[in-house]
Amino acid sequence: MGEMDQKLGLVKLSERSYGYMQKDEGLGWSNAGVIVGADEAILIDTLFDLPLTRKMLDEIARRVGKPIKRLVNTHHNGDHFWGNQLVTGAEIIGHRLFRSEMIKMPPEMTQIIRSLPSDIPAAEMLKKAMAPFDFSGIKLTPPTLVFDHQLTLYLDDREVELIHVGPAHTSTDVIVFFPEEKVLYAGDIIFRLCTPIGWEGTYDNWIAALNRILKLRPEKIVPGHGPLCGIEGVVEMREYFMYVHSEAKRCFEREMTMTEAAKSIDPGPYANWTEPERIVSNVARAYREFRGEPYDAPVDPIELANLMAEIRQVR
Ligand SMILES: [Zn+2]
Repeated sequence: MGEMDQKLGLVKLSERSYGYMQKDEGLGWSNAGVIVGADEAILIDTLFDLPLTRKMLDEIARRVGKPIKRLVNTHHNGDHFWGNQLVTGAEIIGHRLFRSEMIKMPPEMTQIIRSLPSDIPAAEMLKKAMAPFDFSGIKLTPPTLVFDHQLTLYLDDREVELIHVGPAHTSTDVIVFFPEEKVLYAGDIIFRLCTPIGWEGTYDNWIAALNRILKLRPEKIVPGHGPLCGIEGVVEMREYFMYVHSEAKRCFEREMTMTEAAKSIDPGPYANWTEPERIVSNVARAYREFRGEPYDAPVDPIELANLMAEIRQVR
């Protein structure tokens, strides 16, 4: 599927499953999905703000017409759950760490970003990324049912498997697999044609999560960001990580700083992926591991963004 013919909005993937696809225009433009049973639907993720989520729910109501009784959140980043409050009456399901993790980056953070003084290098980049969204009225609405490793939901007599694969992109990463129709909702384990960014997690765990997806043999994958894909999207992500990890290692062994490394690594075959400056996040993660620091060592998003803004100018 080329970028030009990328379908947007609610896209039917199989008899009972849909992806809700948004055009990837950078930070926050995420995808979601729905699996439909005889009398109810399961929603996978909401969107970054209330108007976008409302628009999605309207389209689901119009085209699917079944009440959403369960909502699964693939992880605790705002672009995957800040619309939760609009799915009234649904049981919300997510990983056990969701509640304690979600408060680390509250919606108020967007106000802080919008009022960053312009002498901060990332200010312009972040303000531009935030501009299309309306963060008003968001009330953090977390899971009411949590699990640790794996949970099976029954939709009529069909299984929907929720598998915790974090900490990879975040500590709460969950993939959702609908085996009967071989459809997989990857959350941000997969960024398609778009440079991945990670928060709490390790290279090993992210690669293991990708391998786990391959073992499930899905035919259609809804990535957290970017267009629909098959397993080629999984394989390319794995190759990207192995490439950046080995390049970062080479830089680390030459005693280059993280900033020097991020600036010098050639994006190679991934130069066409959007948001190439996110290599900063991936090099920072590699350096954290080379230095033996914990997987959840706090990441300062403004500092990371400042470096990204710098790299954007270099490239
Ligand atoms: Zn996301």
